[in-house]
Amino acid sequence: MTADGGAAGRLDDGLEEALAALAASPRPLVALDFDGVLAPLVDDRDAARPLERSSAALAALAGLEGERAVALALVSGRPLASLVPLAAPPAAAALVGSHGAEVRMPGDEEPSAPLDAWQEALLGDVVARARAVVADHPGTDLEVKPAGAVLHTRTADVATASAAQRALVDGPGRLPGVRVLRGKDVVELAVLDVDKGRSLEALREDLGATAVLYAGDDVTDEHAFAVLRDGDVGVKVGDGGTAARHRVAGPEDVALLLERVLALRTG
Ligand SMILES: [Mg+2]
Repeated sequence: MTADGGAAGRLDDGLEEALAALAASPRPLVALDFDGVLAPLVDDRDAARPLERSSAALAALAGLEGERAVALALVSGRPLASLVPLAAPPAAAALVGSHGAEVRMPGDEEPSAPLDAWQEALLGDVVARARAVVADHPGTDLEVKPAGAVLHTRTADVATASAAQRALVDGPGRLPGVRVLRGKDVVELAVLDVDKGRSLEALREDLGATAVLYAGDDVTDEHAFAVLRDGDVGVKVGDGGTAARHRVAGPEDVALLLERVLALRTG
């Protein structure tokens, strides 16, 4: 963050240096969370849109060819059915949805759908119990995903939000095979053992990346920061504790960061 508190407009020297090293690597992977990173956080999650500058920079990065080519990925907690229409990612980008439960590699028509019959049944049970929690807690909301259910409490009052989260975690969250993932004003119950760190490791391998840039704003992004290695660049967006080496203030700085990678890769 810059000395004046992270005003958009320039990146600090440490981050500039790290980006230069990343851009000099043969095949960098730029992997980004969506909400709070490409798109500013908003109360209505259907209204989230990437900043114009970030979309333009991503499209330009996707268009680089040959030795200048950069691998791209979006890594989101959202299901792909929600992420894709909102993010409108370049066709060349790998897409990870639902924290890794859904993966669509460049060129794939359909995402992987990895639930077995037992997990399908477990998901049905989790969703039914989570719906009961939402019915008891006004202002909360349930999002059903391909491999989990998410309780959203952003629009509930603080006491109701925490009561609902407790009811969810102490209820369906304790079913065998259920994993609890906590984020900002959300608690997700997942029936697959996935997280963004494992997803990022798989992307690194599958895309043949020689260095990775990962930017994320939420607690669930810490799994991704935790798997970064020497030569990788971890960027925490916004406030909060993090394992990432670098930090920027918000999505405006992410746009700047993407423009820098583009300039470094083409210059
Ligand atoms: Mg996020």
